[in-house]
Amino acid sequence: MNLISAESVFETLNISLASVDSSMKIIRANKPFHWAFNLAPLKTRTRTLYHLGKGMWNAEPIREKLHALARDHKPFTDFECVFEIPLLGTRTLAISGLVAAHNPREKQTFLIVVQDVTSRKQSAEAAALQKSEARQRDFVANVSHELMTPITAIKGYSEALVSGALELPNKRLKFTQIIEKHADRLSQLVEDLLHLSTAEAGHKKSVDSVLLTEKIHQLTADLGPMARKRGISIRVKMNPDLRVAVNKPALRQILQNLFQNAIKYNRVNGRIVVGASVVGKRVVVTIQDTGIGIPKEDLTKIFDRFHRASNARATTERGTGLGLSIAKSILVGHGCRIWAESELGKGTTFFFTLPKA
Ligand code: ADP
Repeated sequence: MNLISAESVFETLNISLASVDSSMKIIRANKPFHWAFNLAPLKTRTRTLYHLGKGMWNAEPIREKLHALARDHKPFTDFECVFEIPLLGTRTLAISGLVAAHNPREKQTFLIVVQDVTSRKQSAEAAALQKSEARQRDFVANVSHELMTPITAIKGYSEALVSGALELPNKRLKFTQIIEKHADRLSQLVEDLLHLSTAEAGHKKSVDSVLLTEKIHQLTADLGPMARKRGISIRVKMNPDLRVAVNKPALRQILQNLFQNAIKYNRVNGRIVVGASVVGKRVVVTIQDTGIGIPKEDLTKIFDRFHRASNARATTERGTGLGLSIAKSILVGHGCRIWAESELGKGTTFFFTLPKA
């Protein structure tokens, strides 16, 4: 049985290969390599990679990789570059650089492997685009559905008033109150949608060094009346000097959404404890309440737009289901995380990370 020779592998693989020395001078290249770079085989030996194809191997990022390969024997794999290839046009190439087996009597050689991944990249991009379009369509459908409910109620009850209910004292007040309730919901939805679009546009522009306790005290003072109405106490347990690197209005938005929920879904005379601890370069903030809790199956879904757990929907508390998705969107934009732990009927703790200032 004939063993396949290295020679035939070099020539038959549908991948462009070239072996080079430490100055990137081409020692040998296979046919696809010659075709790709429009090279006459005889001319190959007099050239370095840097001379090929309009100097594209000379671009800073790939040059650095090649230097590190030759100098420090540091291999690299699938480094993507966009090259202009004669006759083929703009292509995305995945380039790998390997140290060839070392024979002490010979000079060290290196193997350059070039794969054309243009169509793979294009189909991955098309799939990502399709996914994002589908997400957008779902979002528009959800928003329309959420807006339609209060609009239908407002329209229905105002029509009833116009066509006679206005004359009936017992209906007049009731119908007007229903209209007011749905108008409030409509304005809350629009406000939350605006916050969501700001969050998704990114708050990264100005990152400030913020004293965490100061922001928390400002907010708990603002939400004090809402908490007192339900007899809820708020305790802050953290190092008062802790500073985080975050956009100020974005931090306020996150804290406001989480505190409002901790009050809204708490029991009467319940407690809220806010804490923070430093873990490496991050600060982990916790907001713990003694409220209704979140069913296990909803623990990750509550961060999706419009998702409300069944036990929250069963309360009289109004909500749009957008507050947590706004908080998550801002945090993800800062490279941070948010998650929750909960025990049904006992309470919930929300955790989120922020970069330490
Ligand atoms: P909203 O409160 O307007 O419904 P959010 O996006 O802020 O919307 O919250 C989504 C859902 O997560 C809520 O409807 C509720 O089911 C659940 N949730 C959020 N915070 C809490 C909490 N502290 N305790 C219990 N459930 C909560």
